[in-house]
Amino acid sequence: MPTFRSDIASIPRYVPGRPIDEVARELGIASIDKLASNECPVEPFPEVLAAIAAGGAGLNRYPDSAGYELTRAIAEHHGVPPEAVWIGAGSSEILRCTALSVGGPGTSAVFAHPSFVMYTIGTKLSHAEAITVPLDTDFAHDLDAMADAIRPDTTLVYVCNPNNPTGGIRSGVDVRRFVESVPERVTVIIDEAYAEYVTDANYASFLDASLQFPNVLVARTFSKIYGLAGLRIGFGVGDPSLVGTLRTSQAPFTVGSLAQVGALEALRHPARLAERRDDNHIGRRFLAEGLGHLGYRPASSEANFVYFEPDVDPVELADALLHRGEIVRVLGKGIRVTVGTDDENHRFLEAMRAIGTTDA
Ligand code: PMP
Repeated sequence: MPTFRSDIASIPRYVPGRPIDEVARELGIASIDKLASNECPVEPFPEVLAAIAAGGAGLNRYPDSAGYELTRAIAEHHGVPPEAVWIGAGSSEILRCTALSVGGPGTSAVFAHPSFVMYTIGTKLSHAEAITVPLDTDFAHDLDAMADAIRPDTTLVYVCNPNNPTGGIRSGVDVRRFVESVPERVTVIIDEAYAEYVTDANYASFLDASLQFPNVLVARTFSKIYGLAGLRIGFGVGDPSLVGTLRTSQAPFTVGSLAQVGALEALRHPARLAERRDDNHIGRRFLAEGLGHLGYRPASSEANFVYFEPDVDPVELADALLHRGEIVRVLGKGIRVTVGTDDENHRFLEAMRAIGTTDA
């Protein structure tokens, strides 16, 4: 029997949403809606698909590890210097490498609960201790409690804004106040995977502001509103010296050439992005109001999903939904449903209504 690191059993495995084909095979259901992984319900922009299709030449070569062109395009898009931009194979890689670069035995990381499971995984992988802080009653980060939870051995704090799985946000003012209260020896990751979906005017991305601090990294992704989850591309923005050291933990060539080509093209279509934000806003409201009419109390969400804690067992409710072809995600006491297309959103609420009346 091979010898593993002694804590291997305590590292949570990331459980992905169930693939449509698998559920279809198992349950013999033809129409299935996958509303479990906060993916974009529509295809990438047509120009992006065309750029990827044309990008095959040169695949015999390794990709540009530093992503020269893409890094510059992201920098220009957000008005930051290229040295502040760090690309990764999804923002999960940015998060994991950051944890590995600042963690280690005898360190700790502070993050909210419930929040994105990668924070727990990164903490464990880096041999650090997890300090979790419950969300507020409005399902958003309790930043004061998080500041209080920072210990002398803490090297990393995660702020998920909007928060996955609840969709709650903290305002730009609150995040700045929090960052200012964190000692400079502690790296702060502001995870903005869902920033492009936010419609609340009190929200402000911390992307530009991150450069005013030596210890703040903002993480973004092309997996959500850009619809490029399958390509694996995300990025971090922060002080060049911070970014320069954090990327030490990154393996070479993790961001493929096609991912770079696709993301580069995706940045060129801000009007299409705004359209998606509007569509998502309509779908999010439709789901939240529909759930409200059925007697549930969905958390106020600024992302592309809606979270609610049913009075019944969420596992049983999700199972009943699955048998009606609706794949959702159970997270602790709650259920998270991703905003889909209009048809998907209607079918989800229809299934919820049917289940409610049969008391499943
Ligand atoms: N951060 C948050 C809060 C997320 O929910 C996700 C995706 N589920 C990610 C980061 C990572 O996304 P990706 O690795 O696809 O960029």
